Amino acid sequence: MVKKNIKNISRLAKPTFNNQTFLEVKKILKSGNLVQGKKVAEFEKKLNQYLKIKNAIVVSSGTAALHLSLIALGVGRGDEVIIPAFSYIATANVVELVGAKPVLVDINLDDCCININKIEKNITKKTKAIIPVHEFGNPAEIKEISKIAKKYNLYVIEDSACALGSTYNNNKVGTFGDVGCFSFHPRKLITTGEGGAVITKNNKIAKKIKYLRNHGINKTNNTQIVENAGFNYRMTEFQAVLGIDQLKKIDSIIKHNYKLAKFYIKNLDGIDYLTLPILKKKLKTNFQSFHIIVKKNINRNDLIKYLKLKKIESNYGAQSIHTQKFYKNKYNFKKNHFPNAYYAFTKGIVLPIGYHINLKEINNIISYIKSFKKNK
Ligand SMILES: *Cc1c(COP(=O)(O)O)cnc(C)c1O
Repeated sequence: MVKKNIKNISRLAKPTFNNQTFLEVKKILKSGNLVQGKKVAEFEKKLNQYLKIKNAIVVSSGTAALHLSLIALGVGRGDEVIIPAFSYIATANVVELVGAKPVLVDINLDDCCININKIEKNITKKTKAIIPVHEFGNPAEIKEISKIAKKYNLYVIEDSACALGSTYNNNKVGTFGDVGCFSFHPRKLITTGEGGAVITKNNKIAKKIKYLRNHGINKTNNTQIVENAGFNYRMTEFQAVLGIDQLKKIDSIIKHNYKLAKFYIKNLDGIDYLTLPILKKKLKTNFQSFHIIVKKNINRNDLIKYLKLKKIESNYGAQSIHTQKFYKNKYNFKKNHFPNAYYAFTKGIVLPIGYHINLKEINNIISYIKSFKKNK
């Protein structure tokens, strides 16, 4: 017998699809044309419209998007790339994988994005690019970063993996840099299972990224020329169908997330051991994640365990890169080299948010967070 009265788990994130989408996927599977065809082209067109940009190139993941961007911009051996010390590890990995050195810069604790006042002193003759991360959907100060990049003649690759729909002064992030990268992993705002996109205003870079995602083959009307050693970073047609469907919903997903985030903020306000996100007009998040930070004397892992007992999924937000084994050993980093990044890694916690969850469940989560300290 299946037990039916077990309360559902409040998931951190969970994509939702409608029946029409399932039918579309079935059509694709029946058609036999499964990879990078009409639906991929349509998804790219829809992304262009949404982001008001010319060249969206969809790929197999956000990591692939970042990797292709570095290669297309010619970043490689001997180069240095400035990145925040706190991000998803992929931001650092791609820099290592092209043979360049990731140069870490500490973050602000209020938005978990790179501290722009610490960028310039890390620029050397070898610096080739900056990868600001719009962490949790929080826009980094991208205008200011672009200014610094211009002054030193550096490329800007926006890691907007979490930040589709986030805006800086009402302009979508990802559109400021030489290239912008997005992820469509299920943990992000919209999903294609695995998937990603590179966007750029520069047609030459776009062309290069297009052939690099397809084994380095530059396809013209009648010819196929191998321009470079490339990858297979293509997206499938059925993933593109999911992307088209999800993109239609993005504004309502963001609206829904705001409703939930505001409710969290209103009801968690005043709990002395928590630091809550701050809503900003100039830098407008999409609330891909709802990230809070606990005070020094609170054991964040205990809070995660406590919530898990209450069937609420939560997690740390992102990693401090300098404390991950490979990076720590290779560059001899100490924890206190980037104190804010380490603090966010050890004291930050993301709570459930998204289309799959409603105010009633959020209310339930809030009441457990309130009871956490009393129960310790
Ligand atoms: C998710 C994420 C990535 C990687 O995207 P994938 O699609 O999972 O490869 C890169 N950078 C950041 C900041 C991310 O959050």
